[in-house]
Amino acid sequence: MTTDPGRSAIAATAVRKAYGGHLVLDGIDLDIPAGSVFALLGPNGAGKTTLVQILSTLIRADRGELRVAGHDVVRDPGGVRAAIGVTGQFAAVDGFLTGEENLLLMARLNHLPRSARRRSAADLLERFELTDAARKPALTYSGGMRRRLDLAMTLVGRPRVIFLDEPTTGLDPRSRRTMWEIVRGLVNDEGVTVLLTTQYLEEADRLADRIAVLHRGKLVAEGPPEELKRQVGGGHVTLRFADPRDYDRAARTLDVVSRDDGACTLQIPGGGDVRSLRALLDRLDRASLAVDELRVHTPDLDDVFLALTGSPADPVGRVSPVDPVDPAAPATEQEPAR
Ligand code: ADP
Repeated sequence: MTTDPGRSAIAATAVRKAYGGHLVLDGIDLDIPAGSVFALLGPNGAGKTTLVQILSTLIRADRGELRVAGHDVVRDPGGVRAAIGVTGQFAAVDGFLTGEENLLLMARLNHLPRSARRRSAADLLERFELTDAARKPALTYSGGMRRRLDLAMTLVGRPRVIFLDEPTTGLDPRSRRTMWEIVRGLVNDEGVTVLLTTQYLEEADRLADRIAVLHRGKLVAEGPPEELKRQVGGGHVTLRFADPRDYDRAARTLDVVSRDDGACTLQIPGGGDVRSLRALLDRLDRASLAVDELRVHTPDLDDVFLALTGSPADPVGRVSPVDPVDPAAPATEQEPAR
């Protein structure tokens, strides 16, 4: 892969990492332009955190070239560390300190002049909607507040490249949306580059300029969200009928993706947008078909994996069945079917 170091915030070529007999990353290439959001999408155990740890110099790759903000991660780890911020699973928040104290501590660690520390903390608290809770210990914060504080602490050092490791896992929908707005704002207003890892297709879709899908140590797809969604296809609507005669009639009338005769349910293609739902309901009404229940399914990680690899994402919590390491084998031998 050819990369332009002037334009790339993150450039990786042929990165490989194994733990014992487990090949976790098997020839990863990345080229992430400065000032963009890049999402690394994959189920639990896919190797997302491992890649972030390698890029942020916490661990070494077995092979491969990696540059972050123009610095080589092996030859100039100090340069990389000075340019990056890491937020997420290894949260830096000290629960016994208040939000403000956490930020002041971070400002001191980043050698901010004394006069600038309080101003920086106050600005960040306000920007992340934490001013009211500034004097409370962080352990009293909700999950969303903690994540926001964690990200605010990362920003004290004014990083050019930010790694967000599963920034919204476990958050409620509202906190998740707030986090998305903050991240997008950072990129738009300050031109930072964000690499985020996520298990949520929706998150990658909302935030990222480009998405890469990690599967068994390899990137099986890479491109803008629109392209990925085109490959995955749209969502579907599930209709359940109480009356089997209505069910039969509907199955004959509608464009059906799949059916379950026992449960009297039909799946028909379509997303959750109001216009198409209204059109569907009108159509059912006109045909006097009484629907007992309607469910909208938007594509998720499982759909992505099914479409791209022909198999579902590996179940959460199970170790990904990666291929054993065989140093003699050329990387292409293990290429999964597209
Ligand atoms: P993800 O972030 O996508 O959930 P990880 O990068 O945490 O995935 O893990 C990828 C694989 O590497 C998993 O099979 C995990 O068990 C394994 N792994 C991660 N860290 C270590 C380690 N320090 N020692 C051994 N195996 C590890």
